[in-house]
Amino acid sequence: MKRKKTKKIKIGNVFIGGDSPIVVQSMLKTNPENFQETLNQTRELKRAGCELIRIALPQEETCKIIPFLKKEVDIPIIGDIHFNHKIALKAMRLGIDAVRINPGTINNARKVKEIALCAKETKTPVRIGMNIGSMEKRILKKYHKPNAEAMVESALYYIGLFEDIGWTELKVSLKASDVFQTIDAYKKFSKLSDYPLHIGVTEAGPVFSGVIKSAIGIGILLYEGIGDTLRVSLTGNPVYEVIAAYHILRDLGLRKRGINLISCPTCGRCKVNLTEIVEEFEKDVNHFDKHLNVAIMGCEVNGPGEAKEADIGIAFGANKAILFAKGKVVKTGIPKEMAKDVLKEEIYNILKQ
Ligand code: SF4
Repeated sequence: MKRKKTKKIKIGNVFIGGDSPIVVQSMLKTNPENFQETLNQTRELKRAGCELIRIALPQEETCKIIPFLKKEVDIPIIGDIHFNHKIALKAMRLGIDAVRINPGTINNARKVKEIALCAKETKTPVRIGMNIGSMEKRILKKYHKPNAEAMVESALYYIGLFEDIGWTELKVSLKASDVFQTIDAYKKFSKLSDYPLHIGVTEAGPVFSGVIKSAIGIGILLYEGIGDTLRVSLTGNPVYEVIAAYHILRDLGLRKRGINLISCPTCGRCKVNLTEIVEEFEKDVNHFDKHLNVAIMGCEVNGPGEAKEADIGIAFGANKAILFAKGKVVKTGIPKEMAKDVLKEEIYNILKQ
């Protein structure tokens, strides 16, 4: 898996592209007029490991939240702007870290140029965020229907407007809700341009199906070396977007963060409610940022061997559990109700070392 080397840009204190790690993004879902709720969600996302946060700015007045958030949190904030280019101008002048514009909804080269001029003046990076559901009329006329080629051509056209003005702190996204169209568009674009790419499958759906769809689309792109930042778009708590993003990156060996939980599917040999034990444990540890492989297995005969790659793990007998590390038993006779706590204590001990 060889990652494509793209141009490196910086949003706030976070580098994107080049040799920087692939960055995890999410988007706030609160009303931007409700400052407190929005701040709470920003903090929750940051705690979950989110590295860039996007906020919808539907009207000019909603830009008022920018100085407030900038004062309260130290995570880069990206303003999401559709239709009205004046919102982008205002957000940039109020110190937003970056803006994402959808040129398809602005649909006017002169207005996009105004954004480019302001971006250059205020030194604000811009994401040119193409979306297959909102392509500009000119391109739709040429291609008759929205497709990957149309998105790529449109993105290159708008990049050209920024380049004409001399502002190239840009990243690009070309999203569709269809996995194949998404992959097609990013692959085509990546052959033609070195700008960093924000990847994702848009409107992927509710948590369960959306994570699967995103893992396929994002996973294939990352495997092909494409992608510098990513978002898993889900209908649900945005914290799940962050958790899912790290799972994808971790399973591809691209980032190491948090507890990698190995648990067996259980079978007739399992004598405990492993599903409940694993779900509770996952809730307890999903804010950990240090990386560790941890196993929770349903039987003590096969469990340690089946999970021998785990740094630490527990396996259950009928009443007692055993603790094992790298496939070797290190402690026996743990009462099963205490097993979860013993495992957590061991994790703390390992992480402390
Ligand atoms: S670890 Fe034991 S309980 Fe779990 S699937 Fe394997 S054999 Fe079954």
